[in-house]
Amino acid sequence: MRNFTYAAPRNVSEAVRLAGQPDARFIAGGTDLLNLMRDGAQSHGAIVDINGLPLGDIIQRNGVIRIGALARMSDVAAHPAVRRSLPVVSEALLNSASPQVRNMAAVGGNVLQRTRCGYFRDSGTACNKKIPGSGCPALEGENRAHAILGGSDHCIAVNPSDLAVALLAVDAVVQTDRRKIPFADFHVVPGTSPDRETVLGHGELITGFEIPVTPLAARSRYLKLRDRATFEFAVVSVAAALDMRGNTVRDVRLTFGGVATKPWRSPEAEAALRGKPLTTTTITEAGRALVRGAVTREHNEFKVDLVQRALDGLLRDLGGVR
Ligand code: SF4
Repeated sequence: MRNFTYAAPRNVSEAVRLAGQPDARFIAGGTDLLNLMRDGAQSHGAIVDINGLPLGDIIQRNGVIRIGALARMSDVAAHPAVRRSLPVVSEALLNSASPQVRNMAAVGGNVLQRTRCGYFRDSGTACNKKIPGSGCPALEGENRAHAILGGSDHCIAVNPSDLAVALLAVDAVVQTDRRKIPFADFHVVPGTSPDRETVLGHGELITGFEIPVTPLAARSRYLKLRDRATFEFAVVSVAAALDMRGNTVRDVRLTFGGVATKPWRSPEAEAALRGKPLTTTTITEAGRALVRGAVTREHNEFKVDLVQRALDGLLRDLGGVR
């Protein structure tokens, strides 16, 4: 591992100033960053430890739940306001990693975790995300875990965060030291620059998330399909939030993980349900609308069917459709 300087500021403005150095990086729980640095997939000349900043609170006020960026995953998952008003967030967190990691990892870092693409994590392999312009061996190589939505000829790696899929489903807003960013605008697709994954500027610090308390968010759930029952990333995941009047869908959010290069919301799938009765027919149409633009590779074609089945199962459970 390359040598780096270490600083532990006590306030946000000092942290932001220190992180403005070239090649600096914030660290909180460190559950992803330390592995990347140890494996040589990422290196930094300066580490700014933000664990001493007052950013760990979870507060409900004026119809909004505010979750500080340093709140630990386990604390957010267990918080009564989150469990009551944002069940999809609690479920996504409880389906993430292991209890030990959830006790350590902060939610701000969770939405910034890097892809699990094996080529990216291997320091000796070409990868456009790691070394721009070096190529993408996943396109013709091992791509079972890779994206069918939002990819490009430069990168097809999936975003690994369960929490991000849930936050997208409940209209969260990211608060940074300098602005508010709707969660839907926070992550970006790879295009020709897969090394850029969010709209954050250099040294910009996530301070928390604001999530409106709504009937939609209160009726929300998360379904994660994975290769083993625990401590595993999603092959496919679905977050759904429903606001129903009788059997009619007044409003809906459908977001997806494991299938796309960023936490993926499908306006097309939502449009297939909004204002309509929730039935086998409309649920099937929503699934078809989701995958209409899918691009598959040699090993990941199965995700087209799997994600539709996952959506079907989750919507039936959430909407009480037999
Ligand atoms: Fe790198 Fe993306 Fe290709 Fe994986 S899919 S090898 S992260 S460029």
